[in-house]
Amino acid sequence: MKTNGSAIKNIPFEKIAKVEFEGDNHIPGSVDTPMREDAHELSDEEKIAFIEDRFQDIMETLGLDLSDDSLSGTPHRVAKMFVKEKFKGLDPKNKPEMRAFDNKYKYNEMIVEKNITVNSSCEHHFVPIMGKAHVAYISSGKVVGLSKLNRVVDYYARRPQVQERLTRQIAEEISRSLNTNDVAVIVEANHLCVSSRGIEDKSSSTVTAEYMGHFRNESKKREFLDYVNMELKH
Ligand SMILES: [Zn+2]
Repeated sequence: MKTNGSAIKNIPFEKIAKVEFEGDNHIPGSVDTPMREDAHELSDEEKIAFIEDRFQDIMETLGLDLSDDSLSGTPHRVAKMFVKEKFKGLDPKNKPEMRAFDNKYKYNEMIVEKNITVNSSCEHHFVPIMGKAHVAYISSGKVVGLSKLNRVVDYYARRPQVQERLTRQIAEEISRSLNTNDVAVIVEANHLCVSSRGIEDKSSSTVTAEYMGHFRNESKKREFLDYVNMELKH
């Protein structure tokens, strides 16, 4: 088995205690995803090759035999999944183009897109966060194709995340690209780091909300929540 000396770091005890406390308590950081300045210097292929090597080290450190047919392709599969799927929202080239159109119908009420699938990952444990987002905005003269709202949710979800930041990033992106202050976002999700480890609570879910502009007003907030709770009668 190859060993990588530089990977063995001497982390002082106080730091480890802090790391475990912050992770388990899910203390949120800043609104922007913390990124390195050189974040986009490598191509996807280079990133995949690097991650593949390191993931192989992780598996070998755990004691797995990578000459087994079932395991031999795992480092590559995981690396490709990280770069091209689970964390593709870290790369601005994957950001959906939010082309806004004039609001020709003069529809001035709120537009709600609800039950949008959220497929994200907890940045403290790198395990899935799965749930739904409900978003709404009131046009200030511009509208977007409805599926763009789903795509914005998906783009920001596909990063290592904390749910509070995800909620704000979605709201701010919709506000910015549609040039409106009137945006609401609710995210309800299950965190596998809560259900499958630590406290192992399988029934709880986490709800976060961001209300901007007119959605801070009780009647607009109530109207949005009524739409979210409304069941379609087919
Ligand atoms: Zn977590």
